[in-house]
Amino acid sequence: MKLFACLQKLLQGRRENRTCYLCRKEIFDGKTFCADCRRILPYPLSFCARCGRKMTGTGICTECRARLPVADKIRSVFVYEDVLRGLIRAFKEDDPAMADGFAREMLPILEREFSACDFLTFVPMTRAAVKKRGYNQSERLARALSALCGIPVEEVFEKKRDTDEQKSLGRAEREKNLRGAFALKKRAVCRDKKILLIDDVMTTGSTTDELAKLLRGAHAAKVWVLTVAATPCFEKKTSSPEKIFARQK
Ligand SMILES: [Zn+2]
Ligand SMILES: [Zn+2]
Repeated sequence: MKLFACLQKLLQGRRENRTCYLCRKEIFDGKTFCADCRRILPYPLSFCARCGRKMTGTGICTECRARLPVADKIRSVFVYEDVLRGLIRAFKEDDPAMADGFAREMLPILEREFSACDFLTFVPMTRAAVKKRGYNQSERLARALSALCGIPVEEVFEKKRDTDEQKSLGRAEREKNLRGAFALKKRAVCRDKKILLIDDVMTTGSTTDELAKLLRGAHAAKVWVLTVAATPCFEKKTSSPEKIFARQK
């Protein structure tokens, strides 16, 4: 029994020892990134209370003031810039196991903001796209997070057709591009539930809006979103003090 306990501890320790996702240095605290890398990673220090995007100051960002997202609350672990682009690309292109490390980064936010959620769900891919890539990265994240927090995953969405890359499109084109691309395949389970939608990256927010609309239509009590990274809030550049001074002269 004692030997068994020792072995178990050893195995546990092995699981806790990991290498930093960025610099590959060995770490022992069960975290995803080492302390040095954590200091340089783009965690948003202040963010919009509604969409979670990095902004200066507090409260609601200019984008949300112009047009509120459909979801009740959105949060992201990182700002989608520099190093995160590379990490997310690696995760999407050939390393599904990275879902576990990202889920560890998402867990404290889930515990702090979304602990009342009834189930997790994820952004779907078409069957052909899953077959081509071998996995759906958002589903991997949701399942890894579920393993950590014990909240179940419900696969409520399906994607019926492929859509163009959203980034290059204007708002109207994005909406047209997404129209009818997604459907709810489990409507009844959403009624009166607090649902947390998981995704890897939020850029324009059009996809999360579209999926949140479907959940609202199915009478979900709350629609929340948690992503690994999100682009920062677009903020109008205010004049620098030098410019104001020059104008006054
Ligand atoms: Zn590191
Ligand atoms: Zn906002």
